[in-house]
Formats: sequence, C-alpha cells, structure tokens
Amino acid sequence: MKYEVNRLGFYGKYGGAFIPELLHFNIEELEEKYKEIIAEKSFQKEFQALLKDYVGRPSPLYYAKRLSEKYNTKIYLKREDLNHTGAHKVNNTIGQILLAKRLGKTRIIAETGAGQHGVATATVCALMNLKCIVYMGEIDIKRQAPNVARMKMLGAEVRPAKSGSKTLKDATNEAIRDWINNPEDTYYLIGSVVGPHPYPDMVALFQSVISKEIMDQMMDKEGRTYPDRIIACIGGGSNAAGAYYHYLDDNRVELVSVEAAGLGLKSGESAATSVLGSDGVIHGSMTLLMQDKDGQIIEPYSISAGLDYPGIGPLHAHLIETGRSIVLSATDKEALSAGLLLTRLEGIIPALESAHALAALDKIDFKPNEITVVNLSGRGDKDLETYIRELKITE
Ligand SMILES: *Cc1c(COP(=O)(O)O)cnc(C)c1O
Repeated sequence: MKYEVNRLGFYGKYGGAFIPELLHFNIEELEEKYKEIIAEKSFQKEFQALLKDYVGRPSPLYYAKRLSEKYNTKIYLKREDLNHTGAHKVNNTIGQILLAKRLGKTRIIAETGAGQHGVATATVCALMNLKCIVYMGEIDIKRQAPNVARMKMLGAEVRPAKSGSKTLKDATNEAIRDWINNPEDTYYLIGSVVGPHPYPDMVALFQSVISKEIMDQMMDKEGRTYPDRIIACIGGGSNAAGAYYHYLDDNRVELVSVEAAGLGLKSGESAATSVLGSDGVIHGSMTLLMQDKDGQIIEPYSISAGLDYPGIGPLHAHLIETGRSIVLSATDKEALSAGLLLTRLEGIIPALESAHALAALDKIDFKPNEITVVNLSGRGDKDLETYIRELKITE
C-alpha cells in the first residue's frame, strides 16, 4: 500500500503527532491499541451490525440516469445522504465510540464547527450511554442553532469557546485543553481525517466502508469492481478518504477532490486550502493549511459550513503532492446551482458540501462510456434555508 501511513504516522512529509507533552500518554495508548482493537472479531461484529441496522448500510450506489444524460456519460451517486443523521460522519463516530468503550473511557469530548460532527457524536453517546461534551465556538453556536438544539436533545453538553475568533479552531483548543486536564477517563473523538496520528488513519479506516461497498456494488451493476473516476468534496477530507480508500493504489481510478472556493479563489473569502495553503502544523499534524506570513491561521469561508476548515488532512496533502488526486474547486454560486440541478433532475436535495462535488461535473471532459461515482456525502435538509434564500425560490 503506497499511500498508507508509516510507522511514525506520516504520509510522505505530512502527518505526524505534534502535540503537547501532556498528551503523549493518551496518544501513545491510542496508537498502540487502535489497530489491534479494530481488527478484533467482536469489534468488527458490533461495528458491522450497527452500520447495518442503525446507520442503514450499505448505502445505495444509485445510477443517476437524467444527470448522466445531461453530461453524456455514466454517473453513479454513492448515497451517504441516506445514512442515519444524514451524512457520512456517523460511520466514523460509531467506530470511535466502540473503540472508546474498549479503552474503558467514560467521558467523550469533541469539537464541532457547523455542528454536524457534534450531532454525530452526541448521537452515538446517547446510543452508548456515555457522557458527551461538545466544544463549539460562541459564534458558531449562534449560527448553527438547530444543530445545537439537536445535541442538547440528545443529552450532550455544548460548551462555548469564547476566545480568539470564537470559531472552530478555538473550540479545538478548548477540547485539547480538556483532554490534557482529564487524561484518564476521557476520549477525544475527532470528526475528520485530521489531528495527530493515529486519528487520520483511524478515521479513514472507519470511513473506508464507503469504497468497500462501491467495489461490491460496481461489480453487481457493471461487472467490474472499479469506476473510472471518483469525485468527493473536501473539508477535512473524511468522506473523500472513505470513498478513495480501496482504490488508492489502483491507478485506473482517477481521484477528484473538490474544495470550496467561496466567493472566488482570489476573493480572500474561500476555503481552497490546496491552492492557497502552505505547509504548517494545525490540529497536531503537518499538512497544508491557510496561514499568513506569521503562521497565523487565515479564517476560511464557504457557504457550506462543513467545508469551512483552514486545513486538509495529511493524507490528502500527500495525495495532492504526489499527483495521485487532482483538486478542483467550486464557488458558493456554482455549488448552489449544482444543488438545484440535482434536485430538479433526480429529486434529491444534496447537502451544500456534496453540491460542491456535483459542481465539478461542469469542469470535467467526460467520455460517454466512462463511469464516474460522485460521493453524495450528505442530505440538504439542513441547508434548505440557505438554498431558498440564495436561489430566491419563492414558489
Ligand atoms: C462534515 C461534512 C463534510 C466535510 O467533511 P469531510 O471530513 O471533508 O468529509 C462533507 N459533507 C458533509 C455532508 C458533511 O457533513
């Protein structure tokens, strides 16, 4: 496996574990045990059963006939939007909550920006009867009231991060501080392929169920295990990592990642990390991130809250550097119209994040017999207000 993390937690020059001394014990404990625990028969049995009966997997691989006709090619949608809680994030939180239980942890902490990961974490904590504390920037709490309400209904405590810009990176700092203060009983549940090793590898592994299913479903529908291309949006990169995972070493499959260009790549208001970013350490790993000359993080912007992250996971930084994945970007406007197009052609309202992946269809030269899989990471219910307002849908 060419793109596997090495023993020290690096993908090429990216990754690693750049953490405060006080967290070494926790990270080491996780690093030593995660592979072994995940490989255990009883773990896999419980994980697979929950993915099936609780999440509703396998998620369908749907042949989008009218969308295919429009682009004169064959397009399948991997329907992660049909999962319980409405997106791919729950694949990972289920995996990590089972791991936390086996490590004997009784208190779960997480940080969240848009609130999606907070909801996915609060959901599995309710399921497993574990205490759940979610750190969230004070500004994000105001912006994302429905998700805050969901977390509270699920029994989680939502703690505001009141320092700095009062957004995701401040919530991350608070979560790390909490973990340092509560090393014994607490498990830190990270929501994407980011953070110190072993988190990126672990989250990719839990999300890899997506590409595993695509292989079986492709065989079923097309008589071969692989598509010619997979397209996924990238915030931190977990839905993309999951959709790519089993194809990373298969060069027949082109991997296309789509970043949020916000108001435009040169507008100063975007989240296009691979274009605008440079090497640096964020959230405990060396990766590409948006920073100024002094290494201060530049606040990202996207209409889609889930893509509004100033870095990308180290695996993706490596895939981009080696040319294994190619990166396109989509602006707010392009994503909104791609979201409307899918709604009108297929009767599926996609999450604004997923709409960025769909917007990339306009930027690719397709051959008629080529097969493309778009990872539809989530459903658009949460974004309805934004769609209606921005597209001026009145009747
Ligand atoms: C959170 C989220 C994303 C972005 O996160 P990744 O880790 O990049 O996958 C994309 N789509 C949806 C629906 C999300 O909720």
